[in-house]
Amino acid sequence: MTVGHVHGEAFKLMIYACKCGHREVIWNSRDGVTPFGLNCPSCGGLSLNHVEWSRGVYAPKHTLHQDQRFWRDGTPDEAEAIMRRRIARMRDQYPLSPEDETKLIHESREGAEGDFRKGWPFLDRNL
Ligand SMILES: [Zn+2]
Repeated sequence: MTVGHVHGEAFKLMIYACKCGHREVIWNSRDGVTPFGLNCPSCGGLSLNHVEWSRGVYAPKHTLHQDQRFWRDGTPDEAEAIMRRRIARMRDQYPLSPEDETKLIHESREGAEGDFRKGWPFLDRNL
């Protein structure tokens, strides 16, 4: 871990690799958590994993390349959008009352606990 940061992956260029052959370097733009596994853009599996941790370069001043992906903190609006999609996807199997849907959406924005705790990781792309 780099001195002065809470998370070992703070400001690192992180190597992700998939068994299909896809490989990608994703920059962690902040001192925050990052998920170990992602959906792979090449094969669609949930198998794009953070690998070769010791080769991750600490790069607090990294300049993003065009189309390079990077981690940043997610916003309340993004948390709400994700929660709304989840609710819609699950609606047939697990219908909720409108009050419960509103509560879940509110909680996702608040970020007190669960997937959207303050500083939750959002994977963005430098366009
Ligand atoms: Zn893959």
